[in-house]
Amino acid sequence: MYEQLALYIDGEFLTGNGRTEQQIINPATLEPLGLLPHASRADLDQALLSAHRAFSLWRDTPAVERSRILRRAAELLRERRRDIATSITLDEGKPLREAISEVQTSVEHLEWHAEEGRRIYGRIIPPRSLNVRQMVLREPVGVCAAFTPWNFPLGQAIRKVGAALGAGCTIIVKGAEECPSGIVAMARAFHDAGLPHGVLNVVWGVPSEISEYLLASPIVRQVSFTGSVPVGKHLASLAGAQMKRMTMELGGHAPAIVFDDADIDHTAAMLARYKLRNSGQICISPSRFFIHEKVYDQFVSRFVETMRTVKIGNGLEDGVEMGPLVHQRRVEWMQQLVDDARSRGATVLLGGKRLDLPGHFFAPTVLTEVPQQARILHEEPFGPIAPLIRFNDTDDVLREANSLPYGLASYVFTNSIATATKASNALEAGLVYVNQIAVVAETPFGGIKDSGIGSEGGAETFDCYLNTKYVMQG
Ligand code: NAD
Repeated sequence: MYEQLALYIDGEFLTGNGRTEQQIINPATLEPLGLLPHASRADLDQALLSAHRAFSLWRDTPAVERSRILRRAAELLRERRRDIATSITLDEGKPLREAISEVQTSVEHLEWHAEEGRRIYGRIIPPRSLNVRQMVLREPVGVCAAFTPWNFPLGQAIRKVGAALGAGCTIIVKGAEECPSGIVAMARAFHDAGLPHGVLNVVWGVPSEISEYLLASPIVRQVSFTGSVPVGKHLASLAGAQMKRMTMELGGHAPAIVFDDADIDHTAAMLARYKLRNSGQICISPSRFFIHEKVYDQFVSRFVETMRTVKIGNGLEDGVEMGPLVHQRRVEWMQQLVDDARSRGATVLLGGKRLDLPGHFFAPTVLTEVPQQARILHEEPFGPIAPLIRFNDTDDVLREANSLPYGLASYVFTNSIATATKASNALEAGLVYVNQIAVVAETPFGGIKDSGIGSEGGAETFDCYLNTKYVMQG
């Protein structure tokens, strides 16, 4: 039941045929799932050429027609959600329930872009002379190249594809090779929805080779990446050297601040479950927990108790709430972070080691008494580890929360409007959640500082895919 893997170039699904192939592995069982064809140089040239050719057609396609095709692709994804989600669970590892939710959220993102794409307006500026007309036009930038990660293999790609196609651009997507099924399924939905050939292309290969080749091409006018800060900075410098537009959705190290007037039992249980979604492999996953000292013991005991009850295993099995990590590198990184914290004096209250299962499983882990120098408090964990830290002063905790170069998500739990307002004003982050957590298509999503440039979703979603042209007509 695993997706038939392929490249998608100029409207054709391409497999094997002498190309290098990569084996895809199920991270829960380490069993092989399928072979992923890598794009040759000739394939990449063909993708560039077809995206370039298709741009002149797609740019001039009426917005209402572009919207119709995006909507149809969304409907097909919805109809196929069970199969697509099963494949995502097989190659990414997340529980099936989470994979179904990823497909549903992706459908909503596509529908949002289909709707908003019909509302890309210019404007008329009052002239200084009656026989002059001053107009501002918004035009698609051209061919885009998108590099998307493995944690939400379909969801992260849909945001970029929806924004590019909704704006009238064409796009070449390279997803994460570890988890390719969601993107191939997305390409099939667009193909079956009648998307003209070349508007969307999907390629696979060695990430650095593909990104360097595509970014060097003058055909590519916009670059979009979701992934780690170091890779994002590298791609941004390649794009900057050629003055290409860019959207960068990079890592974070989200503070979650729990004040003493919050509903502690509810917050602790909710945060413990939220922390383990996708095994903690989410860029907005809370990763530094600051708890007011008056409620610290109560919070810790409820948090640990909840994490202990989470059922871990193969995401296709009934009732499983946490799957494996995506690859062995991540398990090793979790162990390094725990060992480092322990060696500096931290207490491991729960977990702290890989689980005795065939796949890449790491135990839900709670650390307390973590010294300031521990790496976990500075470097993005991207896994199921929660360091719990005491605080007693609001200004101090806000300073501490802002002390890292990251600025993606932040969380505040309080029943005081004054505290909520003070914290949301002070936090240096693209996203501030107060007593609530949800990511929906109609709101902007993006980081500041090292966490990125630009927003995906919301009314801002097309900004990076459009040029502004001023026309003065006498
Ligand atoms: P990694 O940095 O090796 O890879 C991260 C992603 O970037 C992968 O999808 C990979 O295919 C891609 N990539 C790497 N080098 C590239 C290049 N030169 N050109 C184009 N794409 C490239 O790290 P990893 O171990 O696979 O993942 C762990 C880190 O990735 C985490 O610490 C996290 O910061 C980051 N990450 C972030 C997100 C996010 O949503 N912001 C998602 C997944 C991973």
